[in-house]
Amino acid sequence: MKVADTGSALREILKNSSAPRVLVPTMGAFHPGHLSLMHRAREIAGPGGSVVVSIFVNPIQFDRAADLAAYPRPMARDLAACEIAGVDVVFAPTAESMYFPDRSVTITENLLSRGLCGAARPGHFDGVCTVVLKLFLLTGCAAAVFGKKDFQQLAVVRRMVRDLNVPVEIVACPTVREADGLAMSSRNTRLTPVQRADAPRIRRALLAAAALDTPAEIIASARAAIDTSPLARIDYLALVDAETLQPVAEIHRPAILATAVFYGEVRLIDHVTIPAGQPPRKGDIGSPLPLGS
Ligand code: AMP
Repeated sequence: MKVADTGSALREILKNSSAPRVLVPTMGAFHPGHLSLMHRAREIAGPGGSVVVSIFVNPIQFDRAADLAAYPRPMARDLAACEIAGVDVVFAPTAESMYFPDRSVTITENLLSRGLCGAARPGHFDGVCTVVLKLFLLTGCAAAVFGKKDFQQLAVVRRMVRDLNVPVEIVACPTVREADGLAMSSRNTRLTPVQRADAPRIRRALLAAAALDTPAEIIASARAAIDTSPLARIDYLALVDAETLQPVAEIHRPAILATAVFYGEVRLIDHVTIPAGQPPRKGDIGSPLPLGS
């Protein structure tokens, strides 16, 4: 396994290889969710292809300096995990090598990125799109693997690839969860034991609400089940169309019930997909939910 810490070092490593590359973009602090992406990348690349994992805590996608500073960076452990997962190249650049101090070009997606996490974290998806496109260009990958856990990120990246004719196939992997249902996240390690014990309520609340009939009932039920906890603070809770990510007042097509919840300074996200019922599920929620509500 080779490791590069600048774009030029990466180019040097890749220059004599014509093997198709599959990229797994990450911010490190690996858990089994990341490893599932690496294994999928290994399968797609096959024995003749190469798997490239990027580890980069991208400063321009953080809206809170404290979150960026507190983000875990266990680099030695991450490199060992990549080696075991059969990764060929790790690209772990410094922020200075990724961004010119006077950089002036940013990629902006203007529709799917507006609500949910985009509304709660201004500039976040500009940072994501910009770094993902840079990583695609730097690695010259034919395919890239993303987790469905970050479903809005996945949708925004797919839209960028479609609209800008980026020649990279986007592959999505299911969310890997702890035994108690909590979605695995690098941020989970920052929860106190009491917060960690409470956090599976997010998943339970979404699942129970998703079984209800109308959008109003679904939202109210999920909100109440999370709000019951004195430790949890809802950042947003929204029911959106699975394709457009716009708020829905009726469920005619698959929808996504999505939330972001703060435990202290730690922000966790999760969602469930709600299939459209047959006959269509209906229900008036009064007025459309504002984006990111
Ligand atoms: P991150 O390091 O959090 O930026 O995540 C890197 C990639 O891993 C993204 O594509 C995430 O969607 C994916 N990922 C993070 N957590 C999980 C999980 N629990 N299950 C599956 N994929 C995940």
